[in-house]
Amino acid sequence: MVEVERPHFGSGAEATPPVDRGLARAMAVVRRLTRGLLPRRGPGWERQAERRGCTPVWTDYVGGYALTPEGEVVFSEDYVVDPVQRVTDPRLRVITLYEASKRYPELAHLKPERAAGDRTCPGCQGTGQVPGIAPEMQAKIVCWCGGLGWVPAGTPDPGQ
Ligand SMILES: [Zn+2]
Repeated sequence: MVEVERPHFGSGAEATPPVDRGLARAMAVVRRLTRGLLPRRGPGWERQAERRGCTPVWTDYVGGYALTPEGEVVFSEDYVVDPVQRVTDPRLRVITLYEASKRYPELAHLKPERAAGDRTCPGCQGTGQVPGIAPEMQAKIVCWCGGLGWVPAGTPDPGQ
């Protein structure tokens, strides 16, 4: 059964298109099932992020991470049609700052420094490299910590 939220015809302030919740749930399932199977997004997303005033940094199989002019870490699945959301996950924020510091020389000062409460990455035991993979794959497969070897305080364990 498909549930459709009825549009409002009241004040007009909440005039948003109807949301097909069944379709949204189906799309979420498809995204989960295809995560890791679809090709990485092409460079087109970077131009789209720039059009929205953001500096593109890195992408995963779901969407792109970028910085706002104020230095805020943001994410969007699609910088043309989807909202740009502030990233609150401390691990993803640190990874984005780390990637930005490597990608843009003028942003080298954003490289995160490990603080006292941060902990060693449980995935790589602090090496920054995924254990047990061939050397030629080391540059292509990035650890859960983004290669830093540590995760910021408050980061839940993988899978939680
Ligand atoms: Zn790691």
